[in-house]
Amino acid sequence: MEVKSKEIKITKAKESKISSVDFSNLKFGSVYTDHMLVCTYKDGEWKTPEIIPYQPLTLDPAAKIFHYGQSIFEGMKAYKDADGEAWLFRPMDNCKRLNISAKRLSIPEIPEAFFMEGLTALVNLEKDWIPTGSGSSLYIRPFVLASGVGFHASPADEYKFLICCAPSGAYFSGKVRVLIEEKYSRSANGGVGFAKAGGNYAGQFYPTQLAVKKGYQQVIWTDDNTHEYIEEAGAMNIFVRIGDTLITGPTSDRILDGITRKSILDIAAQEGIKTEVRKITVSEVVEAAKSGELKELFGAGTAAVISPIAGFGYKEVDYDLPEMQNSYANLLKERITDIQYNRSEDPFGWRYKI
Ligand SMILES: *Cc1c(COP(=O)(O)O)cnc(C)c1O
Repeated sequence: MEVKSKEIKITKAKESKISSVDFSNLKFGSVYTDHMLVCTYKDGEWKTPEIIPYQPLTLDPAAKIFHYGQSIFEGMKAYKDADGEAWLFRPMDNCKRLNISAKRLSIPEIPEAFFMEGLTALVNLEKDWIPTGSGSSLYIRPFVLASGVGFHASPADEYKFLICCAPSGAYFSGKVRVLIEEKYSRSANGGVGFAKAGGNYAGQFYPTQLAVKKGYQQVIWTDDNTHEYIEEAGAMNIFVRIGDTLITGPTSDRILDGITRKSILDIAAQEGIKTEVRKITVSEVVEAAKSGELKELFGAGTAAVISPIAGFGYKEVDYDLPEMQNSYANLLKERITDIQYNRSEDPFGWRYKI
């Protein structure tokens, strides 16, 4: 049952679960493929990764992940084209960002070769799991957790790096209504907002639940200091269209450097759309909504690609966005997914063949 893929040892599952999965009815990220990648950090080094059957982890209750939240993750997708070939989108950027997150959380950096070889070997093995329906993909979740033990608050001496995959249908939320946050913050200067650290998301749940109770689906995060600047939309970067200009905030300690965000900026420029990367004030968005200059608001991230916003609430007042015939959101989503699914040329060199 053991075959070698370069350095990586592969132990195949005895039986595939694939026939039990209803591919015409896939939710997002809720069924998992037959295998996973596991790589262990021990004795001061990352050991060679292995691919093994998908299975639960066994961890000591004193593992530091449970007490001090030393954990980071990535989110990416594999796409299948009309000829059945599998593609990734800018995977080295996920690898680099995982290591940026690792550094901030005092987690030892993953060797790039382990990430890339492990990822490609796993996706290659799970190729049959990549769904082909419109907007469907294999969602890939690389993550690292502190498995080393101790009740003292200090970095662990052992870690696990894993990659799991989930065949997923299109992430469709419909048009959402959002609440501009006036009290809570997702991140702060000097903090970990720029990292994909597990705890960042736990901290978002409660304010988001409060917004949901008020009838909104998502929170628009503002800066922690003044709450006067628009920063992110839930766990997505945010874009604002005022008139014909597409604006997004600059990345910082507080705003995560999204791969979708930077790809959209490049595609928009290529399409001749005027873009600005600058701070966006809540008041300019409110004023633009009042004057009718606010044409679009949308979130951008790997899972949903682009998530259009129908309206927002701020200081107990609701504002609606117009229904756009030729929205930037639709155009940009089409362009980026055409590249991802190998339906168009790839002038930027973003596609990565498995
Ligand atoms: C992951 C994430 C994004 C989007 O990043 P992509 O690389 O485009 O998926 C944006 N903001 C936050 C807070 C995130 O966690």
